[in-house]
Amino acid sequence: MPKLIAANFKMNGSFSFIEEWFNAFNKEDASSNEVIVALPAPYLGMSGNGNVKISAQNVSTKESGAYTSQISVSMIADNNVSYCIIGHSEAREYLNESNEDIKAKYDLLIENKVKPIVCIGESLETRESNETFDFITKQLEHFKNIEDEITFAYEPIWAIGTGLVPSDDDIEQVVKHIRSHFSQTVKILYGGSVKGENASNLLNNLDIDGVLVGGASLNPQEFAKIAQSC
Ligand code: PEP
Repeated sequence: MPKLIAANFKMNGSFSFIEEWFNAFNKEDASSNEVIVALPAPYLGMSGNGNVKISAQNVSTKESGAYTSQISVSMIADNNVSYCIIGHSEAREYLNESNEDIKAKYDLLIENKVKPIVCIGESLETRESNETFDFITKQLEHFKNIEDEITFAYEPIWAIGTGLVPSDDDIEQVVKHIRSHFSQTVKILYGGSVKGENASNLLNNLDIDGVLVGGASLNPQEFAKIAQSC
């Protein structure tokens, strides 16, 4: 099965940076995996030259109206984006997003035929107090009745941008826990300090369907190495 290899540029880049990134990445063999790049909103119209699908990094819970600064689902869909990340821990923290908000975004994206990637994951404090599984269950609560395929990204907050990666066993246990809530196919990406050197183990040895890559994705050669790891 091809894997989903997703880059999250976060609030990085410019027209020239992204153009150069696409040129450099397109020179690499992305293998048969599905490659996605989540761009900052002003750059969503930039084309990935067919090799790469574009994702948004967030979307409003509102459809239109007096919500200055927000970006609606129809606006991102107008840019032909294929995917949208929702529930990233940085958006949950800095924008105070709740599990209810994230489910509202999910519903709007599905209605507009943009595929959501729902980020979930525990803080270090939650892990150290042995509450990871209860915490993840709470994050999944609003999704329990969905019957279609869902894509989650399991991103332990303490692994994002820190160079720390959970043990294979810890990742597998959470992945199994997520799958246990659903009877249908659930795609699960792992995210948190994925790099060229650890991607092969994650993608080939664990029960995950792909990876979500932040920092390391800004280097097109390193991201290509990750995309070629399986
Ligand atoms: C992310 O922000 O989704 C992420 C996984 O970041 P990093 O790869 O830098 O840990």
